[in-house]
Amino acid sequence: MTDIYDLIAIGAGPAGESATELASFFGYRSAVIEKYRPGGTVTTSGGAPTKTLREAALYFWGFCEGDVYGLRMAAPPEIATDVIRKRTSSVCDLLQKVTAENIAKNKVDYIQGTARFEPGGSVVVSDDDGNHRNLRAKAVLISTGSRPFRPRNISFDIPGVCDTDTILQRGRVPKDIVIVGGGPVGVEFATICHVLGARVTILDRGTRLMPTMDAEMSACMEELFRKWGLRILFGSTAESIAAKGDGLQVKASTGESLLPDTVLFAAGRSANTDGLGLEAVGVDLDSRGRIVVDQSFRTSADGIYAAGDVLGPTLASTAMEQGRLAICHAFSIPFQGTVDPTPVSAVYSMPEVSGAGLTEAQCSERKLDYEVGRADLALTPRGAIAGRGGLLKLIFLKADRRLVGVHCIGDIASEIVGIGQMVIRCGGTMNTIANMSMNTPTYSYAYKYAAFDGLRRLVSSETETHV
Ligand SMILES: Cc1cc2nc3c(=O)[nH]c(=O)nc-3n(C[C@H](O)[C@H](O)[C@H](O)COP(=O)(O)OP(=O)(O)OC[C@H]3O[C@@H](n4cnc5c(N)ncnc54)[C@H](O)[C@@H]3O)c2cc1C
Repeated sequence: MTDIYDLIAIGAGPAGESATELASFFGYRSAVIEKYRPGGTVTTSGGAPTKTLREAALYFWGFCEGDVYGLRMAAPPEIATDVIRKRTSSVCDLLQKVTAENIAKNKVDYIQGTARFEPGGSVVVSDDDGNHRNLRAKAVLISTGSRPFRPRNISFDIPGVCDTDTILQRGRVPKDIVIVGGGPVGVEFATICHVLGARVTILDRGTRLMPTMDAEMSACMEELFRKWGLRILFGSTAESIAAKGDGLQVKASTGESLLPDTVLFAAGRSANTDGLGLEAVGVDLDSRGRIVVDQSFRTSADGIYAAGDVLGPTLASTAMEQGRLAICHAFSIPFQGTVDPTPVSAVYSMPEVSGAGLTEAQCSERKLDYEVGRADLALTPRGAIAGRGGLLKLIFLKADRRLVGVHCIGDIASEIVGIGQMVIRCGGTMNTIANMSMNTPTYSYAYKYAAFDGLRRLVSSETETHV
């Protein structure tokens, strides 16, 4: 027997969940198939566990407060690590439960099992007990996400050699860790491990940390890391790893030999396309194994769409937007048909780094005539009270003072950039910000300082031009 749906999503991560809930809202019979847990990477090995780990580590080791009060109250590691592990797993459980409830509340059928396509385009779901179920739908969304990329020359069977999934099951806090990859995930783990007292070395092939963020934010983070004593070896990666005594011997591509107890690979993700039967239905992949889609998130096969990490690693927010859009196109739902033009992203390091809109480099590439306004978070009333600093940077066009980018490094940068993101979306200018009343004491007050700084620079550059 075959169950007929309007929409089937394979994978209940952010992309699959948002797509099926939207379709169901508009009256389309929808199902989401999941082989593991509701919520995808967010609730299993990504956002929720890593951010809970970070929050708990900061709390237990009094990391931030120590610098302000000169007194650090740290719990003994053997007590703290057990509490942290339990806390992390209870947060993941809660979010999985909430996701499952949302799916049910939105009248989407949740089907537990592993899905694959049959040559005719139907979808077969197999559960752990060996049962099979046939489904068919007008539209199928592939939202199977991604997994950590594992380089072929490295054996992950050696104890202590981890990827971002297996590090969470390591069972002990590293004392000396080599992190391969200085992108957002590598930087997040670097701060967590530093807070937990580990000696941290980052190997990165590139020339700066977090290359997708504004370069000034990367430079601030690098400066902080070096001040804390973290080692960063740019232009390098791990060429080989072998067990040595109780630890590991890592040969870096620069020729340096390192002796950590743990190595974490946080460089790259592979799309989850294996075993889906994509060849049978004619879904094309690119040379890196990612599904190819057009602007409407249509694959090369009729009626089959794809969204989220399976197209290339992204963020939960973007995966949700892509899922939503795919379904708008699939069912001609009269909803906004473009991905949010003001992408926002955050790195939950300590301090956080976040941005929305254009970076300086992007403005230069587009040959935009722009100016920048900056504010030191330490000089805001909230920053002074908390004893914490950071930088808020606003990028605006000289011609009409329109805000086009906001970037922040600081305590709650991921929250702070939301104000700038909204100003950008609404076409606001530096005057909008300068004339807005802001709560005080808040970090957000930095917007006013940054707006006045930017306007001052603009006026002085205009004066110079006219002299
Ligand atoms: C360590 C880490 C930290 C991160 N932190 C953040 C963050 O702070 N903020 C942020 O926005 N993003 C973060 N991300 C990125 C974010 O998690 C992903 O971009 C997002 O989860 C992608 O959503 P998705 O729906 O495409 O895929 P996923 O969330 O990966 O979900 C895919 C689902 O499909 C299921 N599946 C796969 N194959 C099948 C099959 N054949 N049948 C049935 N089910 C299947 C999988 O089990 C999985 O549950 C982080 C990622 C990592 C790795």
